[in-house]
Amino acid sequence: MNNFLFDQQHIWHPYNRLPARQPALAASSTQGCTITLDDGRQLLDAMSSWWSAIHGYNHPTIIAAASEQLQKMPHIMFGGFSHQPATELAQALIDISPPSLTHTFFADSGSIAVEVALKMALQYWKSIGQPRKSRFIALQHAYHGDTFGAMSVCDPVDGMHHLFADNLMPNLFAKAPPICHHPSEPLDNQACLASLAQILEQHHHEIAAFIFEPIVQGAGGMRFYSADYLKEAAALCRHYDVLLIADEIATGLGRTGKLFACEWADIEPDILTLGKGLSAGMISLAAVLCNERIRAGISQAAPGLLMHGPTFMANPLACRIAHASVKLLNDYDWQTAVTQLQHIFSQAWQGLAHPDIVGIRCLGGVAVIELNRDDLAGLIQEFALEEGVWLRPFGKLVYSMPAYTMTATEAQQIAQVMASAVMKALIAADKQDTALKQQRPFV
Ligand SMILES: *Cc1c(COP(=O)(O)O)cnc(C)c1O
Repeated sequence: MNNFLFDQQHIWHPYNRLPARQPALAASSTQGCTITLDDGRQLLDAMSSWWSAIHGYNHPTIIAAASEQLQKMPHIMFGGFSHQPATELAQALIDISPPSLTHTFFADSGSIAVEVALKMALQYWKSIGQPRKSRFIALQHAYHGDTFGAMSVCDPVDGMHHLFADNLMPNLFAKAPPICHHPSEPLDNQACLASLAQILEQHHHEIAAFIFEPIVQGAGGMRFYSADYLKEAAALCRHYDVLLIADEIATGLGRTGKLFACEWADIEPDILTLGKGLSAGMISLAAVLCNERIRAGISQAAPGLLMHGPTFMANPLACRIAHASVKLLNDYDWQTAVTQLQHIFSQAWQGLAHPDIVGIRCLGGVAVIELNRDDLAGLIQEFALEEGVWLRPFGKLVYSMPAYTMTATEAQQIAQVMASAVMKALIAADKQDTALKQQRPFV
C-alpha cells in the first residue's frame, strides 16, 4: 500500500476522522519559512507549525546546539539527575520573565504545562489549609489544551470539548472581554468585568485561580482584548485572594510584540505557562514558572512535594534547543521583526472588504481575517495552496502566525495570497448562493 494511503487509513491526525476524507500533504523537508513536499512543491508557511517555529525552520544556530547535544546526551531521567541544558534554560527563562517568577517546572507539552499549573494552584491551597479553594475561573472563548484538566477550563460551549462536558471539573466561566484591534484601544469592559466580579463575589471561597490567555485568546477565536481589562481583572482576583495563572503558551516569547503578553497590562501572574515557541518548533517542550508564594505554599505542609514527574521531564535535547532559541531572541531584534510583520499585514489588508468579512486585526506576529461564515475554511486553504502558501484556517478564522524571521517579501506574499484566497472563496460562495436562489421554483 502507498505510504500515504496507509496514513489516511491508519493514523489519526489532529482533530480528524479516521479514515481521513483527504490525504494529508506529504512533507519531506523544511528550511527557513518554506516547506518542501515529496512531489517537489514548495509552500511558504503562514502557520510556523502551529505558531511554534518562531525563528523559521532549521535555524543553523539551533541545529548546531541540537546536534551537539544529540551526540553528548539526548536524554537522562530528571529524577535524581540534573544537567546544564535544564539549568541554563531555567535560568534564562527566570531572567526574561516577570521578576517575581523565580521557579520552574519542565513539562512535555502545553496541555501538560496547564495540568501542572492547575495542580500547583490546587496544591497550594490544600497546603496552606484552604482545601475548599478547588475550582477555576476561565474566560469564555478560552482554549488551554486537550487533556482533562485543560479541557475543563476551555470554553464549554464554543470550545472543541463539549463532548466531554460530563467528565470535566465544574469550573466557572466569565464573560470574555470584547474584541479590540490593539491592547491599548480604549474600550468599555464594564459588562465583562462585572461578570467576573459577580463570580468572584459569589464563589471566591471555593476558587483556586483565574486562568487566562493574556491579550490574545488563540485557538478559541483569535480574539485580541484590552490591557485595561486584564489589569482590572487581575486586581479583582487579587482583592478576592484568587491566584492568577497566565497561559502564555501561544503569546509568550514575543508573539504579541512584547516578550510576554502580561507586560501589556503590567501584571505579574503567580503561575505562567510556556510552550509552542519555547522550543522553536523543533521538539516538544513546555515550562511552568511560579513565584515564591506558590513554591513556599506547596512546600509548607506535608508531603511538601509537587506530585508530577513525567518520564521525559526536562529532556536535555529539548532544553538545549529551547535555550538556544531563547538566546537567539536576545541576539536579534525580534521586536522590530514582529512589529514589521504587523505593519505588513495590516497595510496589505487595508482595502480588503466584503460583507462577509467582519473583522481584520493584526498584532505583532498574529494576523487575522474573521468571516461571518464558517463553511469556507477548506476552500480558502485550497486556493492558498494553489498559490503556494500553507494556511490552516479554522471555521470563520483565516489567520497567519508566521516565523518572526520571515522576510518582508515573504510576509507580503502571504498577506496577498490570504486576501485573494478569501475573496475568491467569498465570490464563489456568493455565486453559489445566487444560483441556489435562482434554482428555487416560484410558488
Ligand atoms: C496550544 C495551546 C495549549 C496546548 O498546548 P499543546 O502543546 O498543544 O498541548 C495550551 N494553551 C494555549 C493558550 C495554547 O495556545
